[in-house]
Amino acid sequence: MLIVMQHAAAADEVQRVVDTIESLGYEARPMPGAQRTAVGLVGNDGRVDASRLAALPGVKEIIHVTQPYKQVSREWRDEPTVVRLADGLAVGGNDVVVMAGPCSVESESQLLTTARLVRDAGASVLRGGAFKPRSSPYSFQGLGIEGLKLLAKAREETGLLIVTEAIDTECIDAVADYADIIQIGARSMQNYSLLKRAGKINKPVLLKRGLAATINELLLSAEYILASGNEQIILCERGIRGFDNATRNVFDLAAIPVVHSLSHLPIIADPSHATGRRDKVIPMARAAVAAGADGIIVEVHPTPDTALSDGAQSLYPEQFEDLMRQARLIAEASDRAIAAPLPSQVTT
Ligand code: PEP
Ligand code: MN
Repeated sequence: MLIVMQHAAAADEVQRVVDTIESLGYEARPMPGAQRTAVGLVGNDGRVDASRLAALPGVKEIIHVTQPYKQVSREWRDEPTVVRLADGLAVGGNDVVVMAGPCSVESESQLLTTARLVRDAGASVLRGGAFKPRSSPYSFQGLGIEGLKLLAKAREETGLLIVTEAIDTECIDAVADYADIIQIGARSMQNYSLLKRAGKINKPVLLKRGLAATINELLLSAEYILASGNEQIILCERGIRGFDNATRNVFDLAAIPVVHSLSHLPIIADPSHATGRRDKVIPMARAAVAAGADGIIVEVHPTPDTALSDGAQSLYPEQFEDLMRQARLIAEASDRAIAAPLPSQVTT
């Protein structure tokens, strides 16, 4: 960290910065320049409260030379993390993993119909919320444990792996009992007690970017999970709040290569929540694969017009087949492939 002093900073102001750094237990290295003095803080272990230094008299600005996160960074580990799921499926390798299914688990027939159709079209993971984090308390809140049981049944019948959301520390153990991947949703990205609990569970975690979170904040949230002991993290770009309401959110496609350059963790994309409109989902899924996403997660419903949540962004079955066909071509064009069906995926 570099503390840049104002042009007219007095010697005693520079000394006060030096004294403060030393009182915090770090080494201070004043570097007088032609225009102004800068003071280097050596040995920053990530615990320095920069605001204390920024508020001292004569300080112009603080320049951070290291990232606030550690274990998620490429400096910590350059080799990409490959999150290994059951049946040899891996997120973060060369293959693009497709996760698909309804927004919410609504009933046995809805879930099983969707599971079969996404499996037949080539998905490897079934998504579906049993515990739903809804913006309104009056909206459908999910089937809870009953929904988890239906997901387990769908896995048994189709061989698809399951990703489903844990909305709080109350339900995370139950979710972990049933899921192959525990989803932490956008609204929970900064629920630090939930992140720490997820860090103690030996199951892969899908961490979605918060509604208005920066990439830095997403990586810091992942750091909580890693620092608590769980390295199996898949990040997810799902769009962020912007000023333009032409789409539900603003899909930050650049987050994919940015995360790949800053972190060794894999990142997938959710074109459904990113756009909110089903006619925008296929083009943005293509774009995500082209941008190097390690996977996509897409909402599909057998009858979107009757869906209890997110019907407007849920694909019709034929649209999902089109998406898969197109995603395959885009993956091949970049020397990649859509992850092959799992040995457990039997046609019923
Ligand atoms: C979801 O995946 O259904 C969901 C609620 O997503 P997000 O947390 O990205 O809004
Ligand atoms: Mn949804």
